[in-house]
Amino acid sequence: MIDRATIDKVFDAAQIIEVVQEFVSLKKRGVNYLGLCPFHNEKTPSFTVSPAKNIYKCFGCGKGGNPVNFLMELEHLSYTDAIRWLAKKYHIEIVEKEETAEEVQQKNERESMLILTQYAQRIFVENLFENREGQSIGLSYYKERGFREEIIRKFGLGYALASRDAFSQKALRDGYQKEYLLSTGLSIEGEHAIFDRFSGRVMFPVYDLMGKVIAFGGRILKSDAKAAKYQNSPESDIYQKRKALYGLFQAKKAILQEDKCFLVEGYTDVLSMHQAGIEHVVASSGTSLTEDQIRLMKRFTSNVTVLYDGDSAGIKAALRGIDLMLEEGMNVKVLLLPDGEDPDSFARHHSSSELSEYLQSHETDFITFKTKLLLDEAQQDPIKRARLITEVVHSISLIPDGIIRSVYVKDCSRMLDSDEQMLIREVAKRRRMRQEERFHKESQNFPEAVLYSQEDNPPLPSRSEDDLEIAEKEVIRLLITYGSETIWISAEEPSVKVSDFFVREIEADELSWKNPLYRQVYQEIRLAVSKGVYPESRYFITHIDPSVSSLAADLLSSHHSLSSLWKSNEVFARTEDLQLREIVPLCLFELKSKKVMALLRDLNRTLAGVKDEDQIRELMNRCHALNEVKMELAKSLGQRVIL
Ligand code: ATP
Ligand code: MN
Repeated sequence: MIDRATIDKVFDAAQIIEVVQEFVSLKKRGVNYLGLCPFHNEKTPSFTVSPAKNIYKCFGCGKGGNPVNFLMELEHLSYTDAIRWLAKKYHIEIVEKEETAEEVQQKNERESMLILTQYAQRIFVENLFENREGQSIGLSYYKERGFREEIIRKFGLGYALASRDAFSQKALRDGYQKEYLLSTGLSIEGEHAIFDRFSGRVMFPVYDLMGKVIAFGGRILKSDAKAAKYQNSPESDIYQKRKALYGLFQAKKAILQEDKCFLVEGYTDVLSMHQAGIEHVVASSGTSLTEDQIRLMKRFTSNVTVLYDGDSAGIKAALRGIDLMLEEGMNVKVLLLPDGEDPDSFARHHSSSELSEYLQSHETDFITFKTKLLLDEAQQDPIKRARLITEVVHSISLIPDGIIRSVYVKDCSRMLDSDEQMLIREVAKRRRMRQEERFHKESQNFPEAVLYSQEDNPPLPSRSEDDLEIAEKEVIRLLITYGSETIWISAEEPSVKVSDFFVREIEADELSWKNPLYRQVYQEIRLAVSKGVYPESRYFITHIDPSVSSLAADLLSSHHSLSSLWKSNEVFARTEDLQLREIVPLCLFELKSKKVMALLRDLNRTLAGVKDEDQIRELMNRCHALNEVKMELAKSLGQRVIL
């Protein structure tokens, strides 16, 4: 590891022009330099380098960033190797943060364990397809359950032979060490020998985000009442159950594309849904979701739909787990399957189009679902009704976003037939009560130096942004470009810095962010502002996290200013910084209204698929609530109105 001070020195020294010119010939054009883009094929140059901002940007393919980004992109260097390259060029001595012997050993152990789990997975697959026992027992089991070979291969399913030490012996013969067989949990130490943890089971490998196998679940084939149906790898240095989501590796692309994720209980539910063409699905593997799993999912989407078996007695117990998702800012929907069906059986008994049609038309948003469930139960009993209101208020108060909260309050006041103001007060009271505690937790969550580690955070593939994210991006652009400038919003108010204004307003309405990268940048700014620090553009351009620095380069390379927003509002061009006092509040308003519109759009999409009259009525009510919020927003032009 390279220490932060060295990295800062490298960023201070590195001149973008000098770095780029090692690879691309540039011509001076005004204050900038121009050349042929090295990242895509072009005949007329659109690759621009700005010495003043120390960034490059291609207006053809969109790539842009600081000198480190350039080397990472062009030479496929890792972050640290790009820093080393620059350090060499500028004769800066690298101070490596010395890894302790213990750290080195731990890293090597993890590596060895991972090599072994990849090997094991290969052997299990081999057993399944090439071994007689595997074919006749394992493969025929999968076939009987209706899994096609393509799905079996995609998820790397396999078979562990029945003999109680077949795998352990083979691995030892192939030169793998006993130590790692035990630490990965593939083998278990007996008195005189080691034995296989998994034998005579069909094997489901669990992958991490990079596609490495970190654990296995093995399903027994006999319906033996005594033995556990599933045997799972134990916790280890490479596998922490609370941080893994089954199927995420195979689902992540579809989740990004659909901006949504289905959550099911079992391995086989994931497989069957994939086979039916629904690929944005992951499993919690039988336990309730942990905070870590939710955060992991949230890096890909904020929209989750939880699928329940129709007869599941566990629904009420599961309601608690869902509260945790609300608290993390997820939009949670719930979908009940018909009595006696789980996602696996339902997908098998219906065609792909029936499945997606069912999924489309039967999801209910969680708060509505919970309210109705409890309403049914409470009937006219006043004590139960009081408890019901407490329960619902509790869930609503967990939602971090102020706008979304106020829509639910309106909606529930109608459903519960209770006074909206009373609900608002109750929600506010609970939030106040938790504030102390939350404040505490948050300050721990955002350590001052968020150290970037490529291994933990493989970059997300880019996807197209919707209106809401474009509005978010505009706020981030203003924050990065003008955060430290001072503006007078109105004659009555004292002057403020642009960052102060945004942070104050966004915190007051507790707006949450849809785009994870923008959320990250905002959190950092918020933290800085709370300490009286106003980071300048340069801070973001040289940011240690390459996705932040290339975002900054993108936002700072002209072309962005005077977006359509200002034209449509007829604020005409003086230069942008002169108009800041108009643009800044307008931009905030735009963010809020785009948020409401996104909720409305989502609602309309749901409405289109629904046939049940009760459900339509409910959705119309929500629509109504949303429109009220929209009107309140417009009335005040985005000034604070709610909660
Ligand atoms: P199948 O359809 O083959 O019965 P499933 O995947 O639907 O399997 P469920 O009974 O729905 O299994 O259980 C959900 C998940 O809970 C499983 O996928 C597994 O991850 C976990 N699980 C179930 N039973 C056990 C067990 N006995 N020990 C450990 N984990 C288990
Ligand atoms: Mn099942």
